[in-house]
Parts: sequence; C-alpha cells; structure tokens
Amino acid sequence: MIYPVSSKETPHSLISTALATPALRADRWLSVLSLARAWADSHKDTTKTALVAALTDLKAVERFFAYPGTLLLERLNSWLEDDDAKAFLRLAQRISTTIISKKYHRDVTAWNVEELEDEPLNRLPQAITHLKSRPYFEVLSVVPHSPARWRLIQEEVAGVRRPEDDFVYQAVIVGNAPDALTAILLNPDIGAVVLYEGFASEGGEANPLLDVFRSLIDISPTGDDEVQIIQLAQAIRKIRPELDIYLLSDRNIETLAGRPEIRIINRIFYQMEEPLELHLSILEGIRKRYKTPFFDNLKRYAQRPIATFHALPIARGKSVFTSNWISDMGEFYGPNLFLAESSATTGGLDSLLEPTGTIKEAQDMAARAFGADHAFFVTNGTSTSNKMVLQALLAPGDIVILDRNCHKSHHYGCVLAGAQPYYVEAFPLIEYSMYGGVPLKTIKQALLKLKAQGELDRVKMVDLTNCTFDGHVYDTRRVMEECLAIKPDLIFLWDEAWFGFAHWSPLLRQRTAMGAAAVMTEELAKPEAIAAWEDQQKALGENPSEDTLLSTRLVPDPRAVRLRIYQTNSVHKSMSALRQGSIVLVKDVDFEHVESQFHEAVFTHASTSPNQQIIASLDVARRQMQLEGYGLVANALQISLEIRKQVNSHPIISKYFKVLSNAEMIPEAFRQSGLDDYNDPDISWGKAIQSIKDDEFLLDPTRMTLSCGHAGFDGTTFKNILAEKFNIQLNKTSRNSILLQSNINNTRSDIALLIRVLVDIAMDLEAKILENGEGYRKAFAHQVRELVDDLPKLPNFSCFDDRYREDTTGDTLHGDIRRAFYDAYNEAECEYLPLDSQELDTRLQSGPTLVSANFVIPYPPGFPIMVPGQVITQEIVDFMRKLDVKEIHGFNKALGLKLLKR
Ligand SMILES: *Cc1c(COP(=O)(O)O)cnc(C)c1O
Repeated sequence: MIYPVSSKETPHSLISTALATPALRADRWLSVLSLARAWADSHKDTTKTALVAALTDLKAVERFFAYPGTLLLERLNSWLEDDDAKAFLRLAQRISTTIISKKYHRDVTAWNVEELEDEPLNRLPQAITHLKSRPYFEVLSVVPHSPARWRLIQEEVAGVRRPEDDFVYQAVIVGNAPDALTAILLNPDIGAVVLYEGFASEGGEANPLLDVFRSLIDISPTGDDEVQIIQLAQAIRKIRPELDIYLLSDRNIETLAGRPEIRIINRIFYQMEEPLELHLSILEGIRKRYKTPFFDNLKRYAQRPIATFHALPIARGKSVFTSNWISDMGEFYGPNLFLAESSATTGGLDSLLEPTGTIKEAQDMAARAFGADHAFFVTNGTSTSNKMVLQALLAPGDIVILDRNCHKSHHYGCVLAGAQPYYVEAFPLIEYSMYGGVPLKTIKQALLKLKAQGELDRVKMVDLTNCTFDGHVYDTRRVMEECLAIKPDLIFLWDEAWFGFAHWSPLLRQRTAMGAAAVMTEELAKPEAIAAWEDQQKALGENPSEDTLLSTRLVPDPRAVRLRIYQTNSVHKSMSALRQGSIVLVKDVDFEHVESQFHEAVFTHASTSPNQQIIASLDVARRQMQLEGYGLVANALQISLEIRKQVNSHPIISKYFKVLSNAEMIPEAFRQSGLDDYNDPDISWGKAIQSIKDDEFLLDPTRMTLSCGHAGFDGTTFKNILAEKFNIQLNKTSRNSILLQSNINNTRSDIALLIRVLVDIAMDLEAKILENGEGYRKAFAHQVRELVDDLPKLPNFSCFDDRYREDTTGDTLHGDIRRAFYDAYNEAECEYLPLDSQELDTRLQSGPTLVSANFVIPYPPGFPIMVPGQVITQEIVDFMRKLDVKEIHGFNKALGLKLLKR
C-alpha cells in the first residue's frame, strides 16, 4: 500500500503527507528501523511479524527509487528469513543512513550488497566509479514490458554510460501511468522521464495520495495511446514542470511529431534507435538546467590574468593580500571573491542595466524556471523590486488598491510614483496583535465603491502580499478573476518576498502569482470561459446590487481581460541567493507597451555598480531549484509540519508554548473547508483537497507562529533569549509570539535542537513556579494575562486629510500621499505634539484635526499606523500609548508626533 489511510504507524496526517510527499519514505524507514531494533533486542515473534509488515509497506515505496534497489532489499529480506536480527538491523541502518545523507549520490560503495565488498552492484561499468565528482540523478522509465524485463532495461541504461558524461544516472522503472505519477511525487531525484509507448494507463496499487493530486490538478489519463501519452506528460508537467520528458515510440513518429500537443514532449525517438541518442538527450536536458550562464562566465573571468585600471581597488585582491592591515579579510573570504569582483561589463560579464549577454540569458532561464515571460534580477532586495514595479506601472494620480499592512517599500513606492494608495485592511488577529490577509470581499468592495464614484478608470493596480509575513496565502487565482470581472485590465503586483520557493511545491504553486497566471491563461482561452461569463451576466441581470456582486463568485469576460501579473520575490529569503538577491517576474500581455517605462524604473533604482556575486547567486539559485527544488521544498515543509506536531503534542512544552494552528491563524470565515490544523489525524481527503484548492486563505506551513505569552514572555524578550542563550535566530516577533521559519536549509537536527531548547525553557519555568511561593505564581499569572488577554485593538487606516483628497464631498479613501510627504519637508509647516500631552487629547476632542507628517511604523507589528497626510484618530493614539516596543520608525519620543499644521 502506498499510503495506509490513518493507521497507527502513519505519523502524519493526510494533508501534511500530501504537502511533503517525499517524506513518506523517511517515515517508512523510521518504522522499519524502530521495529528492527526492538526485534534485535527482544527476538520476539510478534515483533518480527510487525517488522515483516513494515518491510512490505516499505517495499511498496522503495520500488520508486533506484537506491537501494532490488539486490539490497532482497538481502534485507534474506536476513529476515534467516532470523538474523543483528545483520538485518545493521543493513537497515546502513541503507537508511545512506538515503538520508544521500551518500549514494556520491559514493559507489553505498550500492554494494556487503559493506566490505568492492564489486559494484548491477555490474555497473567503470563510469559510475566517477560518481564522486559528477552530479547524480534518476531517470523514470514508464514501460509496457513485464517486470521480468525491467532488469534488462536497467542494464541497457547502465551500458551506455561513458566516462566523459557530465552527470550520472540510474533508471527507475514502472509499468503504468498511476505508478509514474506516484514516482515523480515520491522521488525527488528523478530528473527526466522516458515514456515507452504502450504503457498501461491504469494499474498500480490503490493510492489515495495520487487521488489528491488528480482531483487538484485534473489528471486522469484516458483514451487511446497517443492521448494517454499526452495526458501523462501534461500531468507530469503539472506536478513537476521542470522535468524533461522523452518518448520512445515504435510507430510512425513523424505523424506523432506533427501533433501540436506533442510539443510537451522534449524529444521523440524511434524505439529501435540507438539508446546512446536517448542517453545523450537526457544528459543534454539536465545540462540545460545545470547551465548558469552568468556564473559560468564569472568563474572563467576570475581565472584570467587581468590588469585593472578601473575604480575597484579590491578587484583581484591585491590591495588586500599584500596589506599589512587587512590581509585577514583575504584569508577569511579566500581569493575567488576578489578575483570575481569587477566593474567591467565586458568579457561575458554583461551589464545588469542593459543586459544583452550572459545576464540576459540567465534572466531568461529564470523566467522559464519560474513560469514567467520575463525576469529581472535585482541586487538591492525586493524593497527595490517593489519600487521599480510601482514606478514603472503607475503615474501620478493613478489609484492603487494596497494592503496597508504591506512592506514599507510599497508605501514609499507610492510616494515616489505619485500614485494614490487606496488602503484596504487585512483581517486582524487581535489576540496575537497581528494582521492576516485582505479579504477578497474588502477588495471587491473597494473596486465597486470606486466604480460607483466614477473613478474606476483611475484604478490601475491591486497590490497584495502573498504570503504575508505570518504565512497567510491568498487564493491568487480567485482574487484576480473576481477583480478582473470588475475591471478587466487591472494590473496585479504580488509581493511574494517569502514565497518564491512555493513554485517547487505542486500544491502550493497554484497559489502563487505565476502558478495562478498559468492556470488562468489556460482557462480563459477555453470556449467555456465565454459561456460562463455570458451565463453569469444573464443571471446577474441589468443592474446587480452591490450585495449580489459581493456574494457572487464573479467570472471575468475572457475577451476583455488583459492578463497583467507581476511578482516580486526575495530569492535570498527562500532560496540559495546572497542577501539582497531579488527578482521581478512578469507575465503581462501588454508588457511591450510598458517596457520602456520599466527600463526607466530599472535605471532609477538599480545601482550602476551592481554586485557580481549577487547576480551570480541568483543564477545559481535558479539552477538548484530546477534540479533539486522539489525535494528541498518538500523537506522544508516536512520539517515545519514536524515542528508543529512535536511542539503541540509535547507534554511539557505545550503547557507554555504553542505553534498556532490554521484555525488560530485564519478565522473560520476564510477557511471554508473547516481545516483546523495540518496535523489533525482525522482530516479527510476531501477536506484536505478543498482546503488547498478553495480556502480563501491557506497557511504556509513553513511559517510557524510560536505563541510564548503563556510562558510569560513577550515576543522580543523571547527572541533575545533564544538568540543569546541558545544561538537560535529568528527575525519577527509580535507582542506574544515569535515567528519561526523553516527553509530549504533545515535538517531534522534543527527540529531536535529547537525541541530541546523549548523543553529546557519550559522545565525551567516549571521549576521556578514550583520553587517560588504564591506571590511569584500570582505575578506570573498577571504577566501572562497582560500578554494574552490585554491586547490593544489594531487601529484601521482612518483617512487622508481633506487637503490631500480631491473629492472632499464623498468619503473617498485614496489620497495624495506624495504631496503630504513633501509638505513635511517644510519645517515651518510642521509641529510636534508629545504623545502623552494634554494638548493632544484636547485636539482630538475639539480640533483642529491632527494630520500625520510622516510614516510611523512600530516594530512589531511593522505596519504603518500612520502615513503622511493621514488623519490621526483617538484609536491610533490609544494604540500608540499602549505600545511598549522600543523601535518605532518615524517617531521621536522626546519631540512627539510630527504633524502637518492646519
Ligand atoms: C522582506 C520583504 C520585502 C523586502 O525585501 P528585501 O529583499 O529585504 O529588500 C518586501 N516585501 C515583503 C513582504 C518582505 O517580507
């Protein structure tokens, strides 16, 4: 059985398994190992019986992996039959360690049946002994042959290896389409797929896991051979778009090659042809992804003897290595950093501002990898990427629907562009003093209101953060479709600073900007889309009420829609790029009309001396994700799900700490599926599917809000304790929580460390409470109450002062933030009022209106509670007075609030 539904030995819930599919394998090995240990200790027959069952379960999964392969598994079986518990345990440990350490990628001895045996398995030819220096992957072959012949196919694959190959691979063989999909879900090593025409469309074991993917991404191969091939290829691409797919056919391949849908196949071969051709194509496909045009050139550049006469003394490192005083910098970084430093834009280094060579090529490869039409590398972080996009697409007076709780680069971007923000509010999570995402209804309301006011044509953009700092993931597709139904040429900017990795999770991808863009492009082109729009128009009638529009899932008119989607992404936050490495992704059918503006924005914001190392790391990060991103992201997801489970089920830790569940982070109204917790063992498949597909907000599992209020710590204090005493770093806190994040860099040892630290802290607290008297307990309880019960209401955006609004008769929300910003440059027009002054209260009571002169952004929570030109209300002052954080940007305690005079 691929997936035993809710059995005792299944440590994960269905949904967490679906999110981190490859982890299933590690779980199977863990249960085999623990039973093997028990058997070796006790020699009990019952334990052995359980072990036999666990091994059977394990084998159901292992057949989708090249390592350990049948010989090693057979050997494992033979120890079982011989009742040699010690030998069994030894071999099982060796194999599972090899899997976890990925030693079989590098070391040929890992494949040996006996530990000390030198003869490689499978009579592998010489070539594989070079494994060490060459990257390893696996090729999935989907064949019509009976399993008896699979061994021959494997040998054929091994037979074409050559010493000069850049990469080395092993074959994994399956006999039908469902098994093929299971293999690409489970096995992250698979780098290419070979379909042999005639494979079975059905078969394999019942696999509810596969059903999840089928119902989510619409994969159900049926029909004749050709249709089946295309459907399987499409399904594979939907799960892992980066994989190369080859077809071996024994028919007239010329006619097959003429079918337009067959373009999804990288290359078709006549089955009788030289296997070497297929081998070379497979390697070529991997080489294409492996290639890093800019980084490769930078490495070549660094090796050349170059004399520099430009303004960059550090280049070549001579000023460093020969120095009396700073040679330790050279020792620390090593020579290559300096050899690769250059201000030249020649010799293959290209110019980031006007790329025509290797940077352009690297950007194009990134665009393809991320599912965009264009990609732009940015070396000053997503802070700059956001400002570029806003400046490029918005002109003074344009209105942008903006989440007020977004990163400050958006607010400053509006100031720079002269665009008028129409602030929309995210739903508050008052108990944790933070915000979630902006409900779709709020966004639609804003658009409908602007429409009613006759200002819809001024609305150019909807700008949202996906996912939010705390992990709220939008239903990007639904948001865009419904907005486009109201205004078909809206531009969307999705700030996915944290969420770039999600492209490599088949389930999360659909909730990214580019993932949704791909689906929408496909769906809007179907004739059904026009029919759906026409039907809805009929149903809505002439003048639908606002209530009707708000409660209907609006569909856009596909003939009117201009799909214009931008995504910004801090590659450095979720992938292997150096700090500040960011990327702008574009999928805009009208990009040619804004391209020159876009370049102006690049010129405005990009440094003329961009850092070569950052650019190179963006190139390399893309390579990594295309070749191993699937497995890495699954691992990050699994680690977070494991941390959630361990913390919340630990008898001592859970008394004081909790990783907030889906239910605590997302109000019920936005969680239509009713999914309360990723680790709930009783979630049905139906609920899991519905949640990922349809919930208005989904929680990004990798972002874990750990509440620490019940331990008597505020977020900042707890963060400092973790950093100072335990060397655990994190970046965000709220009043009573900290944010933990897992990424592609984490290992299971990190989970162990975190749990260990939390146990230490929790036990310390227990001891203190026991040792100290009633007084201490009372004080502790009081502190906890203050942290968890007594939280200030989060103040909504009030409005802009009349002088920054064009239409002061209505209740327009958007305003000229830029003019307010510059009015504050005139000192004579500004005044200060201390926060605790009587005068402040008097002014709030009886005027004149208090108008903020600048942004005031407290950390935490990190959103602007005031923006330039905003009217200050009692609610805001109350919140400010209650805030006990040290860091408030834009507020000088001694001077008080900076106001624009009336
Ligand atoms: C971090 C962040 C940014 C800024 O990105 P940098 O790469 O740090 O400049 C923008 N938006 C969001 C949502 C962020 O979290």
